[in-house]
Amino acid sequence: MDEGVEPCRSGGYSYYRHNDKNRPDDQNPAKSTHRVQPTSHSDEEPTLNRICIIANPAARGVRARLESLERLTRNVVIKTTQGPGDAEAQTERAIDQGFETIVAAGGDGTINEVVNGIGHAPVALGILPMGTVNVFALELGIPFNLLAAWKVIRARKIRSIDLASANGHLFVQMAGVGLDAQIVERNSRRVKHVLGPLSYLLTATQVAAERPPRLRVLVENQPAREGSFVLVGNGRFYGGPFSLFNEADIQDGLLDVYVFKSMNYVALMRYFRGVLFGSLAKFSDVHYFKANHLVVKSDRHVPLEADGELAGHSPVEFSVRRRKLRVLVPA
Ligand SMILES: [Mg+2]
Repeated sequence: MDEGVEPCRSGGYSYYRHNDKNRPDDQNPAKSTHRVQPTSHSDEEPTLNRICIIANPAARGVRARLESLERLTRNVVIKTTQGPGDAEAQTERAIDQGFETIVAAGGDGTINEVVNGIGHAPVALGILPMGTVNVFALELGIPFNLLAAWKVIRARKIRSIDLASANGHLFVQMAGVGLDAQIVERNSRRVKHVLGPLSYLLTATQVAAERPPRLRVLVENQPAREGSFVLVGNGRFYGGPFSLFNEADIQDGLLDVYVFKSMNYVALMRYFRGVLFGSLAKFSDVHYFKANHLVVKSDRHVPLEADGELAGHSPVEFSVRRRKLRVLVPA
């Protein structure tokens, strides 16, 4: 007997057997669901049946930890993604199927896809930090230990955070127009794999040697600000444990914005020191301000990254909706 249970739109549950040919593909574990466990475990709360984990097996460490995840999360549906874009599509399907909590198991890229799949749906987002970069988990204080992170999800403490968007693409942590997006754009996956962070540094040196774009940053009722690259923060951290946006509040309905005037090698080194010493906002060639809506225009096509993923080109319209994303966080 191999039975499973999945929640329905109606709020009830649909029961099925693994050999049920009438069941839709979306609910067929052989096709899209990594595993669905029987419901006979009495030590799990029934609400856990409404949790769907979206795991990206391509993210570092995920495949190796899937087995421990399965042992830990009995009664919970785990869906593994097939490639770029699939985490977003699977999240949309899971919400259509009535799941009330969507858990992203992966790095910031996976979380960003899941967030875009959630959109403005009233579901909760859980995080199981895996993969290479986990800045969002760091921001929210979510433990990097799998068991501890799972306990956070089970404890069900919800924090409503601001949901930012760049040309309609949602993001939770940060975004950039210019320099950092150019670096992301030029680092092919293969090179990134071989050289790791070194390839980013090498590309940064290359980009810094070129003529920087001229960006105009427009905020209603304020004079235009000009610069070479722009970084936008919803949270405080950028690219790791660097509190770049040190005045950021993820619940205030405002984005923190840096506009950097220079982009040459010497200026970048100076900016980097400013980040380390927390003095960046005081630099005379750096603008730091808050806004709930801004537009970045340029004299040429400049790439945009959101949560570390390429998300189009300039012009970019940024906005933020206050406390629109419900995230499961530590008590
Ligand atoms: Mg804010």
